Amino acid sequence: MELPKYTMGIGDRFGRQGKAQLAAFVKAAEMGLAVAPVWNKSNREHLLVHTAPPSVRTEADAAVAALGWRKPYFVDADHIGLKTVDGFIQCSDFFTIDVADFIGQAPDDAALEKFVAAQARRAGALHVPGIPEPLEVTTGYIERTARKYLVAVQEAGKVYRHIAAAKGAGAFITEISMDETDQPQRPLDLLIILAAIAQEKIPVQTIAPKFTGRFNKGVDYVGDVAGFEKELSDDVAVLAWAVKEFGLPATLKLSVHSGSDKFSIYPAIRRVLKKTGAGLHIKTAGTTWLEEIIGLAAAGGAGLQIAKELYGQALERFDALVAPYASVIDIDKSRLPSAAAIAAWSPAAFAGAVRHDQRCAAYNPHMRQLLHVGYKLAAEMGVRYQNALEEFAPIIAQHVTENIFDRHLKLIFGPGA
Ligand SMILES: [Zn+2]
Repeated sequence: MELPKYTMGIGDRFGRQGKAQLAAFVKAAEMGLAVAPVWNKSNREHLLVHTAPPSVRTEADAAVAALGWRKPYFVDADHIGLKTVDGFIQCSDFFTIDVADFIGQAPDDAALEKFVAAQARRAGALHVPGIPEPLEVTTGYIERTARKYLVAVQEAGKVYRHIAAAKGAGAFITEISMDETDQPQRPLDLLIILAAIAQEKIPVQTIAPKFTGRFNKGVDYVGDVAGFEKELSDDVAVLAWAVKEFGLPATLKLSVHSGSDKFSIYPAIRRVLKKTGAGLHIKTAGTTWLEEIIGLAAAGGAGLQIAKELYGQALERFDALVAPYASVIDIDKSRLPSAAAIAAWSPAAFAGAVRHDQRCAAYNPHMRQLLHVGYKLAAEMGVRYQNALEEFAPIIAQHVTENIFDRHLKLIFGPGA
């Protein structure tokens, strides 16, 4: 199974927006942008909203059937590990093997020595086509990097072989993710990690490093945009070099776990793709759930009431909701409007505060981030929330499609300004 050149990961906490999401890819295809959808949902999300992995397959297949989509699509077991993968094996054909927890664990001496010995011949000034300056490789750097990442790659090998034993090699897409960690992996680190992946014989088709800068959930990038563009471009060059040098799959490409809405770096990503001809997997972060809230608020009446209630509860349970996401959000509590303050808000005021439009004076990234991590509350609301999604389905669908098409697909893969 091969991954197409351009793919985008989409999440749907409550599994109701599959058609609205796919409609965005249909619109993209109509304007000549071939991007394959990848429905992803992590074990953590399943636990929080009490769903099981096969529900994502059911949703994807139903959307594909309803819209007559004849192009590729995938179902991603997102951020799985050996402990969580089993429930995903049958229904998924894309596996994001997350080994971030194993970064920094000490490898055994024999494995480390063997790896360093095999790679030592690369020491010196390494010229990678596409990177203007040579990479300065030393055996010390190879050893330090291997010390940090070798166990993580070995763990990825275990998970890969576990899946392959059940599904058959070649029957699924393998991604390795190392993004949920503190330290970014620079291009030379990535090169050494790819050498280890090749040695472990994992047919990796996408790899998600941690990039420099902050990728908070549902809000814009925080960091040096020019620096990011250089890093992305160098990473692309490293991947192309590693495919040839290590015999990795020709379809290997970067996976950017964007956290959604990284508008300030989308032009940089687009330039790098155009310049290099490289493919890309870009994963977004369940902001479809925020579009549900925005749609409900914009609908007014009972919809707006539910949006306000959920926000009020999120304020009350702030600490518990924020804790699991502390490293990927930045909320200034003093900037959160109180429940009393929003009680009188109009549909436009509430939707405007949550909708990610930086030109809009009402936009409040603190409120948006809090709601982003508050989806558990909608799960707790249960049938009432589900019924509201049903009642206001048309307006919600419009927001979901527009968000994915206009604010992601077009900006990343489109012809550009
Ligand atoms: Zn990730």
